[in-house]
Amino acid sequence: MKTDIEIAQEAAMLPIKDVAASIGVEEDDLELYGKYKAKFSDEYLKKVQSNPNGKLVLVTAINPTPAGEGKTTTTVGLGEAFGQLGKKAIIALREPSLGPCFGIKGGAAGGGYAQVVPMEDLNLHFTGDFHAITSANNLLAAMMDNHIQQGNALDIDTRQIIWKRCLDMNDRVLRNVVVGLGNKMDGVVREDHFVITVASEIMAILCLADDMEDLKHRLAKIIVAYNRAGEPVTAGDLNAVGAMAALLKDALKPNLIQTLEHTPAIVHGGPFANIAHGCNSVRATKLALKMADIVVTEAGFGADLGAEKFFDIKCRMAGLKPDAVVLVATVRALKYNGGVPKTETSVPNLEALKKGIVNLEKHIENLQKYGVPIVVTLNAFITDSEEEIHFVKNFCEERGCEFALSEVWEKGGKGGIALAEKVLDTLEHKESHFEVLYENSLSLKEKIETVAKEIYGAATVTYAPAAEKALKKITEMGFGDVPVCMAKNQYSLSDDPKLLGRPENFNVNIREVYVSAGAGFVVAITGAIMTMPGLPKKPAAEGIDVTTDGVITGLF
Ligand code: ADP
Ligand code: MG
Repeated sequence: MKTDIEIAQEAAMLPIKDVAASIGVEEDDLELYGKYKAKFSDEYLKKVQSNPNGKLVLVTAINPTPAGEGKTTTTVGLGEAFGQLGKKAIIALREPSLGPCFGIKGGAAGGGYAQVVPMEDLNLHFTGDFHAITSANNLLAAMMDNHIQQGNALDIDTRQIIWKRCLDMNDRVLRNVVVGLGNKMDGVVREDHFVITVASEIMAILCLADDMEDLKHRLAKIIVAYNRAGEPVTAGDLNAVGAMAALLKDALKPNLIQTLEHTPAIVHGGPFANIAHGCNSVRATKLALKMADIVVTEAGFGADLGAEKFFDIKCRMAGLKPDAVVLVATVRALKYNGGVPKTETSVPNLEALKKGIVNLEKHIENLQKYGVPIVVTLNAFITDSEEEIHFVKNFCEERGCEFALSEVWEKGGKGGIALAEKVLDTLEHKESHFEVLYENSLSLKEKIETVAKEIYGAATVTYAPAAEKALKKITEMGFGDVPVCMAKNQYSLSDDPKLLGRPENFNVNIREVYVSAGAGFVVAITGAIMTMPGLPKKPAAEGIDVTTDGVITGLF
């Protein structure tokens, strides 16, 4: 069996201008980053504004095993399968975070014969968007600390600083640091924190911004700290907006690459799926809709987090109307949800599958609440038994759910034709009656409770004293009417990662609440959420190398 990177490196890529030409984009509309990557020019985005929109298909999944269940792989393979069927389809994906490539998870360019390429570029520096975001984030931090040093005219309370520095690296020692040590000229000493770049509010902002004007408007609203009277101090107050926007000028432009079968893939932005909304930029999705008949896009984590936020945050804010949802399940994740340890999910076990399938059932019920037609797909692993596959198929069909087996990892687009046909049929014959789960006019608590009860299946919701206090303050500050962004572990529907399957009668405890004013949502944190990951005992980085000919190895 070849590794993902070996398959990717054997691929004969087309020059990106030829991929663009295949969908009617001229070279003049591109800003080339070498031969195989490009950004779309601002002029091109304007030019296609009056085009009709294509259909929007979201790929989401059940609660995963720690290895990931193949949402990106399915998204890429489905896009390729549409290509095989002669449809004009585009894929819209997130840009992967650099840090995790060196840890356990590896890259995020899909897998097997359903990948986007060049995968090394995508996983490493790509077109520099994350560098720009890191820079803008840290410029704001530098300007804030400098403001304090230079007399602190805004009366920033150094005990109430919200804004954190960021770095696109898994580096646990930066979670809690002290800055400003030294003498008087070295700044004011205070406790500081780093988050990984994808957790920066600027990432969320870039991904939700409609255009440069909206970007600036959102950047200005970022709350960096509170003053000693307890009032918010913003990036606008620090006069940081112009310079931050200048740093983000090119990062705002969507990127174009290709799949192994030359299907165009717009890959842009990558916010965390816990403290942020977890999907590629609004600009990328909207552009793709103007360019293609079908757009396939992915939301991070399981449907309880990814799809919920895709609908309730991204689609609500951007006015998008999804036409179908593909819900990815795997036999191994269903068995994991049935209590099988992750090391034994490859062993056939119908009993565990029967036990764990309640997780799929709950996700189907949840997605039905949004009124978007659903197709369930089983991402086939070679270790799945016939018996297990049949069981899942019957389970879906008995519930009136469309079902298709997907073999895109093994076979590329050809392995996704059955799925593509089911999706096409759904797009043609089933109308989407998309609606968000809750209205913005509900109180923040009502919104949190709607998600916790309706989507997670919680019986009750409790709030830590700090969360109670924050909710009151945020509401008083005028942010009561924005969507909530729930931060929860991805493994369980509940806030306890060990409660697998379909937990019931549980309580969700809201530990912390804060407002991401620029992004335009209130973050409600359950459990322990990590915004700066660490590396494992044997990091993937130890196996990564580059040959004297410049070929990268060991990236996965
Ligand atoms: P997600 O987007 O849900 O996190 P990915 O599509 O990135 O998941 O896949 C996670 C990993 O699993 C990748 O390394 C990919 O190569 C692998 N993978 C996905 N589908 C399959 C499959 N059907 N068989 C074997 N490995 C797979
Ligand atoms: Mg993914």
